[in-house]
Amino acid sequence: MQRTIHASILSVLVAFLSLAGSGAAQEAEPTRSIVNITGDLYRAQNNNHYNVFLVTSDGIVMTDPIDREFSLWLKGELARRFSVPVRYVLYSHPDWDHASGGVVFADTAEFVGHENFPAALALPGGNPPLPANAREMDANGNGLIERAEASGNTSDRFTLIDENRDQLLSGAEMIRGAVNDVYPPTTTFSDRHTVTLGGKRVVLIYTGEAHDPASAVIYFPDERTVFGADTLQAKRFPGGLGPNVGAWIEAINTVNELDYDIAATGHAMMGTKADIVALQAYLQDLAVGVAAGVASGNSLQEIQESLTLDEYRDWDRYDTQRRTHIAAVFATLQGNP
Ligand SMILES: [Zn+2]
Repeated sequence: MQRTIHASILSVLVAFLSLAGSGAAQEAEPTRSIVNITGDLYRAQNNNHYNVFLVTSDGIVMTDPIDREFSLWLKGELARRFSVPVRYVLYSHPDWDHASGGVVFADTAEFVGHENFPAALALPGGNPPLPANAREMDANGNGLIERAEASGNTSDRFTLIDENRDQLLSGAEMIRGAVNDVYPPTTTFSDRHTVTLGGKRVVLIYTGEAHDPASAVIYFPDERTVFGADTLQAKRFPGGLGPNVGAWIEAINTVNELDYDIAATGHAMMGTKADIVALQAYLQDLAVGVAAGVASGNSLQEIQESLTLDEYRDWDRYDTQRRTHIAAVFATLQGNP
């Protein structure tokens, strides 16, 4: 009896340990998927990042390559499923976490980005000092981050930041960011750029300075779908509202002037045009609400207490972003009374 109990405990323990082992292994594996949106348009996932691609008889038009590992995986999946090469990579913006890895498709693809895109890959001139958050890492105070000094994201992304590969991060390299693996656009545009392939049209549309000076959305008119990375959010508060809420309102206005049904986002859930109309309403309610509070002589704290924006309470990140957004609009209004 005793022996049987021990044996069964042991077998449970072994089962638990092997489960725990496989669980840990799975955690390291990225979550990747490909789902059909409509027609020949698909959405691909790499953990918290997404792109879309359109399959035509003459090849594939895809948006942000996201990163090198994902692009290698996606290239294999596309070859296996569709047997046509990627002909175009269309960039939403140059941020490293959306725009890296495109070199994987450079043998067959043209790369299109906004005319402000290349500047994001260039080192800023004038030998700027380390940004404030990087100065904390500079233990020996020589104005550079050595490998041993780097911590957190700077350590993880060291090789993507180190532009000249000298194992030292300068102020200019820190300001430029982790863009070493971003393949530069081979074609740039100012307002709109249309790509045609296999009888299909895809249009890049510049949305102004919101989130990034090179922000664009990618419009698939026949599929009635628009793709945007950090600017398009469905039932979710944007991460930040840089450079100002006015630029955001203009950007979302530009998107909603398009005739579309589906909002394919670069993060989290996809949505519909109604979700992006609601985002536009939120930005306006936020701007008007803060302006009214300022006009009444209220402090930031008072506005953060009273401007509850209850209509948007169900959205993802309400708890963390509402106050931050109010503070951002408040600061803008203080700077431009
Ligand atoms: Zn971004």
